[in-house]
Amino acid sequence: MTYAWGTERRFNAYSDHFKKQFGERVQKITLDVGFTCPNRDGTCGTGGCTFCNNKAFNPSYNDPGKSIADQIRQGMEFHRKRYRKASQYLAYFQAYSNTYAELEKLQDLYEQALDIPGIVGIVVGTRPDCVDEEKLDYFKELSGKCYVVVEYGIESVLNRTLQRVNRGHDVEKTLWAVRETARRGIHVGGHMIIGLPGETRNDFLESARELSTWPLNNIKFHQLQIIHQTAMAQEFREQPWDFVSFTMEEYLQLMMEIIEQLNPSFVVERVAGEVTPGMGVQEGWGVRYDVVLRTFEELLSQHDTWQGKYYKTDK
Ligand code: SF4
Repeated sequence: MTYAWGTERRFNAYSDHFKKQFGERVQKITLDVGFTCPNRDGTCGTGGCTFCNNKAFNPSYNDPGKSIADQIRQGMEFHRKRYRKASQYLAYFQAYSNTYAELEKLQDLYEQALDIPGIVGIVVGTRPDCVDEEKLDYFKELSGKCYVVVEYGIESVLNRTLQRVNRGHDVEKTLWAVRETARRGIHVGGHMIIGLPGETRNDFLESARELSTWPLNNIKFHQLQIIHQTAMAQEFREQPWDFVSFTMEEYLQLMMEIIEQLNPSFVVERVAGEVTPGMGVQEGWGVRYDVVLRTFEELLSQHDTWQGKYYKTDK
């Protein structure tokens, strides 16, 4: 069976989307260019989000002390060894809030990356309160020349959760940023965490239904992974009953139900996350992401289900 997104896979997979868009596999190269975040430097908070420790996600070739060109060159080298097929790359400004500077400085950084042969676009990870009309107008203009995704940390669509994790903005701000970005024809990505404290299975499913009404293009889901030396690690020690701990099987079962609710037009970039080994407070699943993904697709097949099976447009 061919699904609404034009393939036989049971969800609208990112790798297929890129093959359609670019004619081949495209690999992201993550960058850390030394940004900070207004939730850390005192502008809207100091402690940061309680789950945040960016070191847990950065690959070894990321070092803000290195130039963009060096990080990209080393990233290309790293990926060429793992995935020989990629010859086109996206520069992924990932660490912290990558629109948190004057526009002129941002333009210089993004354009340094775009000048490197093989880089066909940029993905810019940021907070919804770190964009404004001027920056979005710039991204609109840039989108006319290359592939651009602005990826927002949504994390939760519940204000009580955003408050609890010290996010420093509310869901109304997130929706504003997503809408303003989409309105300009810029690709909009979102990142969600499944399992933040106080959220229940019903909340996860209701959140998928709510998100499905937003004008997103891409979505990433990560299970909550509590990282050492974060405020959440302390909270977990004090109130473990407020946290859901998933086995891989339990999580994928839940993810299947989330995907069933999800807007079929959303490209799903990830269904689970991976932190650097040894950084998590709880024991990890001990399997690589390709195994997680294969297991997930087998589960969809066993249940004869797919992305958007229960998606309703009337919300
Ligand atoms: S998760 Fe993002 S927004 Fe929150 S403190 Fe970390 S860098 Fe800042």
